[in-house]
Amino acid sequence: MYDLTQCVHHPVVSHDGFQSLAIATHRASTIVFDSAIAYADRHQQGPQGYSYGLYGTPTSRTLEAQLTLLHGGAGTVLLPSGQAAIVGIMLSVLRPGDRVLIPSSVYPPVLAHCQNYLSEFGIEHAVYDPLCGSGIETMLDHRTKLVWVESPGSTSLEVQDLPAIAAAAHRAGALVGCDNTWASPLLCKPLALGADFVVEALTKYAGGHSDVLLGSVTVGEEEHDTRLRAWLRTMGIGVSPDDCALVLRGIETMGVRLAHIGRKATDIARTLTQSTAVEEVLHPALPHHPGHSFFKRDFKGASGLFSVELKPQVIPLLDEALDGLKCFAIGASWGGTRSLLAPITLTTQEQGSGPRSRTLLRISIGLEDPDDIWDDLNSIFWRLEQVFKLTASPKTSANERN
Ligand SMILES: *Cc1c(COP(=O)(O)O)cnc(C)c1O
Repeated sequence: MYDLTQCVHHPVVSHDGFQSLAIATHRASTIVFDSAIAYADRHQQGPQGYSYGLYGTPTSRTLEAQLTLLHGGAGTVLLPSGQAAIVGIMLSVLRPGDRVLIPSSVYPPVLAHCQNYLSEFGIEHAVYDPLCGSGIETMLDHRTKLVWVESPGSTSLEVQDLPAIAAAAHRAGALVGCDNTWASPLLCKPLALGADFVVEALTKYAGGHSDVLLGSVTVGEEEHDTRLRAWLRTMGIGVSPDDCALVLRGIETMGVRLAHIGRKATDIARTLTQSTAVEEVLHPALPHHPGHSFFKRDFKGASGLFSVELKPQVIPLLDEALDGLKCFAIGASWGGTRSLLAPITLTTQEQGSGPRSRTLLRISIGLEDPDDIWDDLNSIFWRLEQVFKLTASPKTSANERN
């Protein structure tokens, strides 16, 4: 062969005796076939066959199979982000005239999708109390085709009674999807608790290093897998094998990362309950946390994300208290090796009264030395606590302050 041909025909080398522990990253758009007949029959191969890079490579199939095993499911599909995975379920299940229920504690972009996108296509949504349990019954009607669950909820971390919600939804003919990102498949298995779909934002603990975006949907029944794959195909959605390889690597260490992070985060959450700047620590392992009994029943343990609700008096000091941190970074998207902080204002609609605004400090614990993590936290909370020390000082009597 001439040089130019040699340049595009890579030499075939032996793979005999090469066995690596690493999963190869198979990049492909074109898949080639041994004969014209094999090419013509490429769509007869079934879902595990290879016909085009967009529809899967051995790398993406390995990740799918691993998640299917971890969740005890019937199949898994991958999407470019956790949000895409949630939206993919909604768009493949819901039709104009249908209705979806979402908890008030849902990941905010999901509410935005319902409000700004689904509504334009005649798909209604209603927001329910994450702690309603079987009380969800009163909100189910013949148009309700999907009940969305996120447990614990984003930011406020309410733990939902998934078995009770799933039973009620199924009685009414609705499917149930659950966002399991906080727990990962190692700490909770929603399919066994009644969900039909479970979403993981692999971006978080599975990826584990803040450098990849990927989402998955694992299903309990094969028919859901078939429907989702057909939907992905028609939308032209696929995932990068390089991203899959990063997540496959992340999953190898997810168990030890989560065990360490979960222990540290729980210790820190317990200790922070003592601070005078704190209204409440929102962590599912704390006995008074909303849904704690479901947490004990359904979860193997805690991961590393929790929130601290601050007392209103300390809020004016917050921005300054977050300056000059040595260990924590400020930002969203958690689950990596670095500890993160994000100040978040939540506005909830309370029954009987008007909207209530709460300022939370969302904390994601990483893999730094716990002493360094504590140095930052002590500095933040010491600065916030000054509000009370000044007003309680014996030198400033009521008269002097007036
Ligand atoms: C981050 C997150 C998502 C979205 O994941 P992306 O990959 O960032 O789109 C969905 N649900 C929860 C609970 C999350 O924390």
